[in-house]
Amino acid sequence: MANDKTTDSAQGNTNDANARVQELIKFVKIKEKPVELTGHYEVPCIKPDSFIDVKPQLLSSVEQLQRLGYPTAGLIPDWKEVFLKKMDEILKKYRSVKLFLDICVRCGACTDKCHYFIGTADPRNMPVARAELMRKVYRRYFTWQGKLFGSKFVNGSDLSEELLAVWYTYFYQCSECRRCAVFCPYGIDTAEITMAAREILNSVGLVQKYMHEIIDKAQTIGNNLGMQQNAIVNALEFVQDELQETTEIPDIQVPIDVEGADVLFVTPSADFFASPHIESLYGYAKVFHQAGISWTMSTHASEGGNFGLFVHNYGHMKKINKRIWEAARDLKVKRVIGGECGHMWRVLSSYSNTMFGPFDWLDSRYPRPQHICEFTLDLLNRGALKIDKTANDEFVVTMHDSCQVARGLEMGGTEFGQFEIPRGVIRGVCNRFEDMPENTIRERTFCCGAGQGLLGDDMIATRVKGAIPRMQAYSYAKREKGVNFVALICAICKAQLSKMFPTYGIPMEEVGGIHQLVGRAIVLGAKEGI
Ligand code: SF4
Ligand code: SF4
Ligand code: SF4
Repeated sequence: MANDKTTDSAQGNTNDANARVQELIKFVKIKEKPVELTGHYEVPCIKPDSFIDVKPQLLSSVEQLQRLGYPTAGLIPDWKEVFLKKMDEILKKYRSVKLFLDICVRCGACTDKCHYFIGTADPRNMPVARAELMRKVYRRYFTWQGKLFGSKFVNGSDLSEELLAVWYTYFYQCSECRRCAVFCPYGIDTAEITMAAREILNSVGLVQKYMHEIIDKAQTIGNNLGMQQNAIVNALEFVQDELQETTEIPDIQVPIDVEGADVLFVTPSADFFASPHIESLYGYAKVFHQAGISWTMSTHASEGGNFGLFVHNYGHMKKINKRIWEAARDLKVKRVIGGECGHMWRVLSSYSNTMFGPFDWLDSRYPRPQHICEFTLDLLNRGALKIDKTANDEFVVTMHDSCQVARGLEMGGTEFGQFEIPRGVIRGVCNRFEDMPENTIRERTFCCGAGQGLLGDDMIATRVKGAIPRMQAYSYAKREKGVNFVALICAICKAQLSKMFPTYGIPMEEVGGIHQLVGRAIVLGAKEGI
């Protein structure tokens, strides 16, 4: 009987803990007003806890949680053990995370570099403070001093429901953009700490909704939007019909599942119909047509994006990425090219080869996936595309460097290719290009404010605040240089900025893809030869 009572009381405590945590991380709808656009962003005076109520919704679908391999009933009974076990596993597996926890000297160089801190003034959004949430647990449970003398001795944190709620809040106010790492003298990458924290939160049953619904759709159906194969075929046929009608070229195509094509082209599924994304799809098709290169898209690999990256879950990332590898193998293509998507590019260029071994049946001149900007710039440089730049004369164009490209990996095998190649394409198709201020572009670029799982409507307050540095930089370029179009190569940035521009009083038509500009300038018809 005594044992039964103990069990009942333990169960009661667990239920209480779960209920407390659910209450603490309850989704609260908050709408934030945009600030006035002055052309400059200010580093704010701190306002402690100003954004503590802003957190994403939890995933509650039991079927989806089961499919993804997560606990299905919220916080699990033995959450403290599982939390520490998962953290231990991460520290052993990813030595960089352990190193980042060990070597911070609190120099403060990163404190004012995060767009979410600049926007919200909440001190926990300073990168060093965000990382400190994990560091305090690390010091308490993973150092001998913490183990022996407890949290006070090492300025650590004991695990508690309140701490979990703070983790869930602030590790979902980080877009893993890595800007802070550029300014840290030790190269500490808070994005990696955020990813690790999200993995730990998932393991104890706190699973964010927006991102995991997308991961589930990408794994079970094949794309982030959950479009079935016939819907993909219909959407792409519609794009092809539109292209044939508007260009009056009957043989321009958007090929699907063509075995033996030279190129497998993968892109985010948003490109199939979202605006302004679809304009770039028209541009890609025109480039392939005019270059005379056989290409195909795939219903099996109908998604370029890979949200597995955002939750530090290589299992998810690998499963999603594998479709691209399988499609390339099954369609017997010679090269793989990726469209305009920041994190797709990072996964394709940085992780594909190590996840699946080399794509060694590909043409040896293109042994790894290429970016569409590399492909297009090469054609432009060789004079293989006929271009009428005046078609874009209504625009003074600037470029938003998407973080996952800018701070991901070089492009085209050249140093700084990720900055110069996209700009080379823009300059190749437009007469007027102006950069935004130097401290907001290239390796120091600011996130659009919605990366890495924060694009859902539940995070709108964070999105509005996190967009401030980019909006101020754009408004500066607009006022001082007459800029009226921002070109991007990231599907999430396109979605975020085309919502933020009108929020800040700028027309959404001023946001678009680089290949939207290419599509406007390319002169179809007589081939120049490649
Ligand atoms: S990775 Fe980006 S969003 Fe996260 S703390 Fe650093 S600057 Fe902020
Ligand atoms: S810049 Fe680096 S070392 Fe300095 S406080 Fe930030 S994370 Fe720590
Ligand atoms: S959404 Fe775009 S700007 Fe934001 S983190 Fe991702 S790539 Fe960077």
